Amino acid sequence: MAGVDLSFACDCGTLRGTLSGVSPSNGTRAECFCHDCRAAELYAGQPDPAPGAVQVYQTVPDRVRFDAGEDQLAVFSLSEKGLLRWRARCCGALLFNTARSPKLAFASFRTDRLADDAPLGPIKARAFIRKPNGKRGHEGGFKFLAGLVGRVLPRLLTGRWKQTPFFTPDGTPTRDIHVVPEAERSPLYPSKP
Ligand SMILES: [Zn+2]
Ligand SMILES: [Zn+2]
Repeated sequence: MAGVDLSFACDCGTLRGTLSGVSPSNGTRAECFCHDCRAAELYAGQPDPAPGAVQVYQTVPDRVRFDAGEDQLAVFSLSEKGLLRWRARCCGALLFNTARSPKLAFASFRTDRLADDAPLGPIKARAFIRKPNGKRGHEGGFKFLAGLVGRVLPRLLTGRWKQTPFFTPDGTPTRDIHVVPEAERSPLYPSKP
């Protein structure tokens, strides 16, 4: 499916870009209730999503292009091995999550950065949702995983993973990763009972 091109922007409009080939089948729309996604929002100075979720559309880096304000792009991680969370320095808006290696070629896009999210289709997966018994579980996990593998694997085999705005050709992130120090990190998580 060819899909459509959608413009995205940080909240202040300085950092702008385009997602290409957007369709409900070219990516997976999902929402995540996990503590890390929430902590990332809080760290970036964004409104607290809890008890709601963080909305993402999982696509691939070769369908991401930055068009303006790319000097505002920055990246942090909540731990030494955690996901890379790409944000706009100008206003704090979070834009993408990626893996630490470009070979795992996915990019989870924060859909709040779109003017119109209708072309993404319906939400197909919910991660870390609280179940009636109080435990956390997933809905649509198989669909999510199948979509991820179906996009990542061919890119690994064809070398298309190299087409990414997030990493240089030698696999280094295009920005220095700021690992949030423990003292700043722990207040962003719910305290253990
Ligand atoms: Zn999450
Ligand atoms: Zn901004």
